[in-house]
Amino acid sequence: MKKISIIIPAYNEEEALPFLYERLEKLMNEIRNYEFEVLFVNDGSKDKTIQLIKELRKKDERICYVDFSRNFGKEIAMLAGLDYAKGDSVIFMDADLQDPPELIPELIKYWEEGYDDVYARRKTREGETWLKKFTSKMYYKVLQSLTRVPIQKDTGDFRLLDRRCVNALKKLRESQRCSKSMFSWIGYNKKEVLYDRDPRIAGKTKWNYRKLIDLAIDGITSFTTSPLRVSTYLSIPTFILLGVYFIYVIIKCITQSVAIQAFQAIILLILFFSGIQIMLFGIVGEYLGRIFNETKNRPLYFVNEYNGEKETNE
Ligand code: UDP
Ligand code: MG
Repeated sequence: MKKISIIIPAYNEEEALPFLYERLEKLMNEIRNYEFEVLFVNDGSKDKTIQLIKELRKKDERICYVDFSRNFGKEIAMLAGLDYAKGDSVIFMDADLQDPPELIPELIKYWEEGYDDVYARRKTREGETWLKKFTSKMYYKVLQSLTRVPIQKDTGDFRLLDRRCVNALKKLRESQRCSKSMFSWIGYNKKEVLYDRDPRIAGKTKWNYRKLIDLAIDGITSFTTSPLRVSTYLSIPTFILLGVYFIYVIIKCITQSVAIQAFQAIILLILFFSGIQIMLFGIVGEYLGRIFNETKNRPLYFVNEYNGEKETNE
């Protein structure tokens, strides 16, 4: 019998967990021809999430968990899920039931037809502000315009991945991760499934705009170096401007025999060029920071417990 691992990163989800288990259990009992493993990655929750998971495991052997030593963020939690999953395929799901488990049979159906990456695309998003919808739409646009690898629109992390995708993703061990672009980057046969995204069942969203902006910058810089080219493009008109102005000043000085006037203009110019320089330094710094982080080559996470056994980090 084939095994499917459902990976669920969870951070302070004590309110959502009972609902989640109820829906998942019903589903797993309905699908009889597969063996299931529900792998929770407790991402350093400060509430009772881990106690609840442990209680569930006592009742139900299919519940497994990886307990992080602290909060490492959802992207890293997803990678740990891949590392510990034993299934022939894995399904990523959020703990807040925004991804309806009832879609899982359809994901499995396409997997059996030979697709390696069956991803769920949102038809609608309820319970999210227009600002969040708008920024996420713009983000896709920008990301897509910067790269030739196709990025799936309106797609979160809710998807089924065949074992070979899992093994491929496990090889991508950079520290500033953007799973969305990694799913595209590894390739393989992809299949889209449409669904309606529900509002969060209980608890609060863990995202804030700071985190979203961080993720967006990580996504763009980890995926493409084209922002670096912005500096090249920007410097061309800057130098043309500089040349034109230089010639203008020289000619004026010679023909009218006057000294350069209006120091305000010079101040403005200085501001203009230093502004550009600061911006370019920002971009270079972005990549330097990334090189710094990657060269440290640290482990991406530490595990406190796996299914009740203490990790010794040997
Ligand atoms: N999450 C996590 N670590 C974090 C933040 C979030 O593991 O540092 C998990 C969270 O428990 C949930 C999923 O990531 O299962 C999505 O988070 P959330 O629902 O808060 O984000 P949103 O759906 O609002 O984008
Ligand atoms: Mg959510």
